[in-house]
Amino acid sequence: MYNIAIDGPAGAGKSTIAKIVAKKLGFIYVDTGAMYRTMALACYRAGIKAEEEEKVIARCKEVNITLGYENDTQKVYLDGEDVSEFIRQEVIGNMTSAIAVYPPVRKILVAMQKNLANHNDVVMDGRDIGTAVLPNADLKLYLTASSRTRAERRYKELTQKGQTCDINEIEKDIIERDNRDMNREVSPLIQAKDAVLVDSSDMSIDQVVETIIHLVKR
Ligand code: C5P
Repeated sequence: MYNIAIDGPAGAGKSTIAKIVAKKLGFIYVDTGAMYRTMALACYRAGIKAEEEEKVIARCKEVNITLGYENDTQKVYLDGEDVSEFIRQEVIGNMTSAIAVYPPVRKILVAMQKNLANHNDVVMDGRDIGTAVLPNADLKLYLTASSRTRAERRYKELTQKGQTCDINEIEKDIIERDNRDMNREVSPLIQAKDAVLVDSSDMSIDQVVETIIHLVKR
């Protein structure tokens, strides 16, 4: 199996890039953030707050998360229900980084992710893929961009969907989320020693994709 690991902070373009690279190579794209988001949604719907550690862990142990693919798009199911849209809300995104700090939550999802990569050629994106999930990945990338660039991209995405938002608020949330992800005790977001650093601040999507495709040696 050929495994590509892409890590990086929120809004760096990981999912956009990973999706295109996976399609070009005929690999499966695995969005691990969607899995953590689904755990957060399950807690949110049950009225559990992120800081209620015991309850969060108990809820995450009882839910069933599965992935499916429709027209090359990953779908994520919570106890059989397609929640791919619900998990994209900002409130869920922010709650996700707060529950992703709990080791038992990570343990469940990391096991699923390792299993997927053992049986498929994958492009997997997240925060701990090159370090914890796939330490032996064939290719590792650390994709980043300045916080302003990342906020601008998210702002564009949200306004295109018709949502009203404040770019400074978005940048503040992004910085806060990065801080939590980079400073947590278990599997913090860091660039793996053997990962190639790609700063996409001044690169187009096509340029990033080409850079990665050139790095793939099979
Ligand atoms: O990538 P996305 O923004 O969807 O991820 C949401 C959150 O899930 C991240 O901010 C992070 O806290 C958590 N996450 C993680 N490990 C991963 C993927 C996501 O902790 N492999």
